[in-house]
Amino acid sequence: SFRAVLISEDEGGQRVEVADVPVDRLPAGDVTVAVECSTLNYKDALALTGSGKIVRSFPMVPGIDFAGTVTESSSPDYAPGDRVVLNGWGVGERHWGGLAERARVSADWLVPLESAFTPQQAMSIGTAGYTAMLCVMALERHGVTPDSGEVLVTGASGGVGSIAVAVLAKLGYTVVAVTGRPEEEEYLTGLGASRILPRSDFEGPGRPLAKEQWAGAVDVAGGHVLANVCASTRYRGTVAACGLAAGMDLPATVAPFILRGVTLAGIDSVMCPQEDRREAWRRLAQDLDPAVLEPMTEAIFLDECASTAEKLLAGRVRGRVIVPIAGD
Ligand code: NAP
Repeated sequence: SFRAVLISEDEGGQRVEVADVPVDRLPAGDVTVAVECSTLNYKDALALTGSGKIVRSFPMVPGIDFAGTVTESSSPDYAPGDRVVLNGWGVGERHWGGLAERARVSADWLVPLESAFTPQQAMSIGTAGYTAMLCVMALERHGVTPDSGEVLVTGASGGVGSIAVAVLAKLGYTVVAVTGRPEEEEYLTGLGASRILPRSDFEGPGRPLAKEQWAGAVDVAGGHVLANVCASTRYRGTVAACGLAAGMDLPATVAPFILRGVTLAGIDSVMCPQEDRREAWRRLAQDLDPAVLEPMTEAIFLDECASTAEKLLAGRVRGRVIVPIAGD
């Protein structure tokens, strides 16, 4: 058997426990992995607390990410001993996920672990960091360069935001960090932010067009925050939108798009094609200093996932949470 976080459904709602699960209950898949580390992302927190409709079937092992070592494989692409990473593809939502000692998945979903990273470092990055890199790649594809001007990152103290700030700063961009936590100023300047703006500057309804300020932006918030970021983006700038921490709606006008040629680039990490995800991991190995990961990462045990999920949704987690599993 193997230990796993298990979400089950009963009359009262959903129940979360750490259970011993027989190996023969692992789902179908051509590669079995001994999970060495997993993590808690925003989406995992929604799944664990039942506050978002994330889990599609019960019982479910949550965890949209894992890093570990292949133990069995009937795929020509992987052999026992290979180190792998998984992000998304509905794992932890529709297919049993990473918050467990074992996982069984399709070989097509795996990415080889970059040799620059340990499994713990890869999970410190996790879907949050890999998504941050997809956002940076989108800015680059739309021509935003370090010379273009200031680049804004919202939710900067969170998982996506922290990695986005670190990567952009290392690439030479001038990064402006937006946070609702002024006490994290030192943390954010330590990651490379050149200045900090309060989240309140971006909350609430704004004008269709505001002063042109940002050459590019990475937004994790949505809602009024995203609308105001678009309205203050410079002529032909690009906003990479990946999140909904402030809300699912987008109370904006078309003015920034049709009058300033602003591009709104949508970012999805879950079904992102292999080519782009491998590129994102290669770029993380190249453009993220692994030394920044430790101070932004908190490690928890499997049985702390449920309580930490609540803390994360309340905005009380800084940076990233990892769940080391081997030897747990
Ligand atoms: P996280 O660690 O919880 O970070 C979210 C951050 O957003 C918080 O730390 C907070 O930063 C800020 N925030 C919280 N409430 C806010 C509000 N009402 N208005 C504005 N900002 C607020 O979560 P994460 O893992 O970084 O994920 C961030 C978002 O990206 C989530 O919505 C997640 O679902 C999404 N996401 C999407 C994809 C994708 O594939 N599209 C992938 C990964 C994540 P401050 O305290 O610094 O303000």
